[in-house]
Amino acid sequence: MAELTDNKVTVLKGAEFLISDSEPQHTFIPEEVNEEQQMIRQMVRDFCEVHIYPNYKKIEKQEDNISKKLLGIAGEQGLLSSHIPEEYGGMPLETNTNTIITEEIGRSGAFSVSVAAHTGIGMLPIFYFGNEEQKKKYLPGLCSGQIVVSYCLTEPGSGSDALAAKTKAMLSEDGKHYLISGQKMWITNAGFADVFIVFAKVDGDKFTAFLVERDREGLSLGAEEDKMGIKGSSTRQVFFENVKVPVENILGEIGKGHLVAFNVLNIGRFKLGVMALGGAKWNANTAIKYANERHQFNVPISSFGAIQYKLAEQAIQIFATESALYRTSWLLQRKATAMYEGGASYAEAKLEAAEEYAVECAMLKVIGSEMLDYVVDETVQIHGGNGFSEEYVAARAYRDARINRIFEGTNEINRLLAFSMTMRRAMKGEIDLVGPAWAVQKELAAMPSNEKTDGTWGAEIDAVKNMKKIGLMVSGAAAKYQMDGLIDLKNEQEIVMNIADIMMDIYVAECVLLRIRKMESLGHNTDLQGQMMKVFFNDAIARISKNASDALSSFADGDALRMMLNGVKRFSKYEHINVKNARRAVAKKLIEANAYCF
Ligand SMILES: Cc1cc2nc3c(=O)[nH]c(=O)nc-3n(C[C@H](O)[C@H](O)[C@H](O)COP(=O)(O)OP(=O)(O)OC[C@H]3O[C@@H](n4cnc5c(N)ncnc54)[C@H](O)[C@@H]3O)c2cc1C
Repeated sequence: MAELTDNKVTVLKGAEFLISDSEPQHTFIPEEVNEEQQMIRQMVRDFCEVHIYPNYKKIEKQEDNISKKLLGIAGEQGLLSSHIPEEYGGMPLETNTNTIITEEIGRSGAFSVSVAAHTGIGMLPIFYFGNEEQKKKYLPGLCSGQIVVSYCLTEPGSGSDALAAKTKAMLSEDGKHYLISGQKMWITNAGFADVFIVFAKVDGDKFTAFLVERDREGLSLGAEEDKMGIKGSSTRQVFFENVKVPVENILGEIGKGHLVAFNVLNIGRFKLGVMALGGAKWNANTAIKYANERHQFNVPISSFGAIQYKLAEQAIQIFATESALYRTSWLLQRKATAMYEGGASYAEAKLEAAEEYAVECAMLKVIGSEMLDYVVDETVQIHGGNGFSEEYVAARAYRDARINRIFEGTNEINRLLAFSMTMRRAMKGEIDLVGPAWAVQKELAAMPSNEKTDGTWGAEIDAVKNMKKIGLMVSGAAAKYQMDGLIDLKNEQEIVMNIADIMMDIYVAECVLLRIRKMESLGHNTDLQGQMMKVFFNDAIARISKNASDALSSFADGDALRMMLNGVKRFSKYEHINVKNARRAVAKKLIEANAYCF
């Protein structure tokens, strides 16, 4: 079991959820939000109501440098600095409160991308890797929104394969400057950024991060990209022609740019998932309101079972994803607190925490963005023809959502990472996958046990245990076949995609179960949330069963395959539930509330 403990609560290590059980005290749930956090949530909502929604048309057209002005207002209200210590101009709040802020900003469409790029991949490299002088010079202005930062990693020829960048940095003859030459692409906030984090290869081979100010001679911008969505977010190419950058502007160490580039992405991915949650709730509200208002065949369309299915399914996916995001927020908070109390600096503690849960962050980026795409797609569908019209907000939200599966590492790359980072942790001995995987093999060879967990959620507790057995069986078998040279997972990504999908379903299922159990322990009525969980379990187990069968049939055969497929069948048993009635009950509540209300 994990060594990390805080207030006597045992905290799981990254990816350890696959092998260890957790209890309700191992999570933070939205129902626990305290008064201060509720006030902060309301403050961000008010910011969106007052400054974002009335300006949406302007933001979309990027008129009047509006996004930069709005970043300034957000900065004044402390919305850009709640993750930065006071000595650098911030007002640090705990991780869970930051998660709430991020979720609410997620309701602001394209503007949320400007905020995320500035506060995340923009500010964090300076905060985590900058020296004291750099932090003091840049962070106060970035916190107040007076200056804006962009992160320049991608190039025309290198996106997912970021280390193949061609941008070069050559030391000047007097040894005082680097001369940067190259081209960066798809750079968020580039249109109005004052400073750029630029990744370039010193002498053509040592990947290094630099701080480059906008007014440097030789730095120029391309035109605004004509994008499918997030039109209100500035995205441009940035060109460097022998741009002279003082040697003091190296961020981190020469040749260690990959640490700067990739470490900030862990937290960026988590935050992307959280913003997707805010966006999804906003869209679900739109869908419910429209379904109640729109009449066909003399009744509101919300009275049709086909529409109720969609409203309920949106809510179920939002609720489940939210449970996983807030649990991870709690894990990040606990780990950072333990590190800080153990003597690490604030920045080190945050960085380490994000690295510890890099697997969870990668998964949540995928889970959040795919949940959001489901929600916006069904919101358009519920709007019928009006969903296809730019007069209604559903169309814009649909286009805006799509980018989330592409940036901060595509969802394919994040699935690959979730699996490979888990295997790496196992190989380094950080988590023990082999022992539990071997125990599942032994269980398969023995007579099936009829033991069941008692209690209200006994079936779900057993279901999560069984999902983990399937996950261990498939990943353990894949690792063994790989070690025996029978498969090469690098060239058989389909199998890795199956395993990553299984991991994600296990994680979310466990998180939603912990949430329901904690809600009960806090005295909440969980009748409907329990129904939502049961529908989610029903579907997750079906997906896990299919992914497991697909993966196993891709590399095993004969008796071994038969035995493992039997195992999948044995471990994917779950009670039959009337999913139609469960969804109808959830939809009824949403329709009555005329809003997302869970
Ligand atoms: C609106 C927008 C804003 C952005 N903002 C920024 C920013 O601020 N800063 C920045 O540096 N970048 C930014 N990006 C770039 C973004 O991070 C990249 O687009 C993304 O990483 C994918 O790279 P790519 O576009 O080159 O696609 P590619 O890497 O060419 O990928 C194309 C397809 O191939 C798949 N693929 C690639 N490699 C593999 C592999 N090994 N295995 C399996 N599948 C693979 C991908 O998943 C994808 O489906 C932004 C992009 C957009 C569109």
